[in-house]
Amino acid sequence: MSLSGLCQVCESTTAEHACDQCGTQVCEEHFDRTQGVCVRCASVRDEGGVGEREKPSGTGHDDTGPGTGMR
Ligand SMILES: [Zn+2]
Ligand SMILES: [Zn+2]
Repeated sequence: MSLSGLCQVCESTTAEHACDQCGTQVCEEHFDRTQGVCVRCASVRDEGGVGEREKPSGTGHDDTGPGTGMR
């Protein structure tokens, strides 16, 4: 695969990678190596919560122990 042109994100740096997801040519800075996609796709993936991440919302489940008020 031969890449020619500028990064389609910043449009100022020579593109060195092609997004595995959308095929956008991006520079080193706008390429997510770990995922092999451009930063756009990487951010989309990150936001698209499929329910994998569970945030411990304060449900009053605090580990204060049974000894409340005991000193
Ligand atoms: Zn760039
Ligand atoms: Zn992409």
